[in-house]
Amino acid sequence: MPLTPSKIVCVGRNYAAHAKELGNDVPKEPLLFLKPPSSLIGDGETIRLPTVSRQVEYEGEIGVVVSRRLRQATAAEAREAVGGLVAANDVTARDLQKSDSQWTRAKGFDTFCCVGPVGPVPAELSGLTVTTRVNGVVRQHGQASSMVFDIPMLLAYISQVMTLEPGDLVLTGTPEGVGTLAPGDVVEVEIDGVSRVSNPVTAAA
Ligand code: MG
Repeated sequence: MPLTPSKIVCVGRNYAAHAKELGNDVPKEPLLFLKPPSSLIGDGETIRLPTVSRQVEYEGEIGVVVSRRLRQATAAEAREAVGGLVAANDVTARDLQKSDSQWTRAKGFDTFCCVGPVGPVPAELSGLTVTTRVNGVVRQHGQASSMVFDIPMLLAYISQVMTLEPGDLVLTGTPEGVGTLAPGDVVEVEIDGVSRVSNPVTAAA
C-alpha cells in the first residue's frame, strides 16, 4: 500500500463540465464524501470489478497529501499543508451511486482508490493538469484552474468539519469524460510531470 492515511476525503462535482455531464448542478459549497483506507491500491495493482455492479467507472483526480494537522484552518494555512501530490483514480460503481442514497458502497470497494507515488508540489497549484487514459487513449484532461473550489479552499473547508492529520489524502474531484471500465482494460491517471498511476482491470474472482 502506497500511503496510510487515517482517512480519504473526497470532493464531488468540483468541475462544472463534469457535474453537467452527469446531469447535476454545481454545488454551492464543496460536496464531501469519504473513501475507506481499505480501498487503496498503488501503481500496477489490479482494480477488481465487483459482481454487484454493471457500471464501474474511472475518475482521474489530483490527490493531495496533507503534511501537517489542519483544524479550522484558513486557506493560507491549508496551502502550507499541501505536502505532496498523487495521481488518483476515484473508481466508482456508478449504478450503485445512483441506486443508494449514500455513496459509501459505490465508492468504497477494495481496489477503488488507486494512487501513484507522491510527487512534488509546484509553486502554482492552479497550473496542475490531470489526464486519464484507458488503453492508451486519452479520456479526460482537466486543469486545476477549472476547479469550482481550489485546493487550499477545499482543505480549509474540510478542516472546519474534521481535523486533517499528516498523511491524510484529499481527492479534489474529476473533470469531464468519465466512462466505464471492463476486464482487460488498463487505466492510467497522470498529474502531468508530477505523479502517475496505472492499473489493470479484472473481474472479481
Ligand atoms: Mg471523484
